[in-house]
Amino acid sequence: MTTQPAGRVDSQDDARTACIAATIRADVRALTRYPVAHVEGWIKLDAMENPYPVPDAARQPLAVALAAVPINRYPDGDAHGCRLALREGLGLDERFGIMLGNGSDELIQIVTAAVAAPGAVVLAPEPSFVMYRRNAIAAHARYVGVPLQADFRLDADAMLRAIERERPALVWLAYPNNPTGNLFDAADVERIVGAAPGLVAIDEAYYAFADASFLPRVLEFPNVIVVRTVSKIGMAGLRLGYAIGHPNWIDELEKIRPPYNVNSFTQAAVPVLLGHGDAFAQQALAICRERQRVDRALAALPGVRTFATQTNFVLARVPDAAAWFATLRDARILVKNLDGWHPLLAGCLRITVGTPAENDALLGALGRVYGANARDGVAKQEQRA
Ligand SMILES: *Cc1c(COP(=O)(O)O)cnc(C)c1O
Repeated sequence: MTTQPAGRVDSQDDARTACIAATIRADVRALTRYPVAHVEGWIKLDAMENPYPVPDAARQPLAVALAAVPINRYPDGDAHGCRLALREGLGLDERFGIMLGNGSDELIQIVTAAVAAPGAVVLAPEPSFVMYRRNAIAAHARYVGVPLQADFRLDADAMLRAIERERPALVWLAYPNNPTGNLFDAADVERIVGAAPGLVAIDEAYYAFADASFLPRVLEFPNVIVVRTVSKIGMAGLRLGYAIGHPNWIDELEKIRPPYNVNSFTQAAVPVLLGHGDAFAQQALAICRERQRVDRALAALPGVRTFATQTNFVLARVPDAAAWFATLRDARILVKNLDGWHPLLAGCLRITVGTPAENDALLGALGRVYGANARDGVAKQEQRA
């Protein structure tokens, strides 16, 4: 092996750095990677995962289905069985078009790319899901964020003014919204849909934990698609999202979908797992019950405010987000510190609802911040009520 003289290496470094600067777009260079936490053996309450494993009854049939996957072949590009299982599960007939993505993350990318003509605007309320903005930047669209109200309701008038001014090709509405957890007012959403000159994509990642959905109504509007995912209901590792809308919309979007974007294992697993849909629905119910318990316990702590949630997480404004985050980190519990993300999120932590035992650990650790157990606080409150 030859070693290069130091001067040669330096000049190579310089040349590469200069070439990257001249080649990679400035707006891409200004981005930072999407942060993904690596924590093993911790209680993970940062990413809205369902804390429950695959239902027991599904394990054996899943193993059989996966063992039979012909991985020497490309996947079925239409993911026929997978789409059929989704259609049956959702009760969607052929009037609805359905496109699958490698997570709804990929669908956000595809929808954005499809509308991103030069000068096209992508608009979303803020704070909302960060991938709307990141994908708009990557697709060279112009991103416009419109602040929510202080209690995280849509500022419908501001949205309508922005739509009038910007004429967005695409509006994203997360319904319910991440990271705020609330469900926007349906009448506000309809006004936005009515005013938007382009597509309105309603992102229902948290549909399983919410009281309302636009899916049954998607064909009522000429310019709406609904995007969903199986990630938050217990299958985040599969990477499967789906977009539903009129076939005319879906046909256009399909043109830029990578042909084999849903892998063969996922395609084999989905019909099996959806066949155990009741077990996943039970898990969602358990999460909603725990959500209420966690919400009440947090809200009972001095100086803490929680916000109405229709998701599998609770947004809490706490007296000192950094200190709380550190306390939980010391207890090997990971939550999301949103302080500094957006002015409206000052002092906010986003806490995914875990199993009862995980939530007990969370509340116990937070109770120690006050020198009293948070759960006892709630018990006393409930006795009084
Ligand atoms: C989690 C989340 C997604 C991403 O889901 P994947 O299918 O896992 O890519 C999309 N939208 C919102 C609002 C989310 O919170």
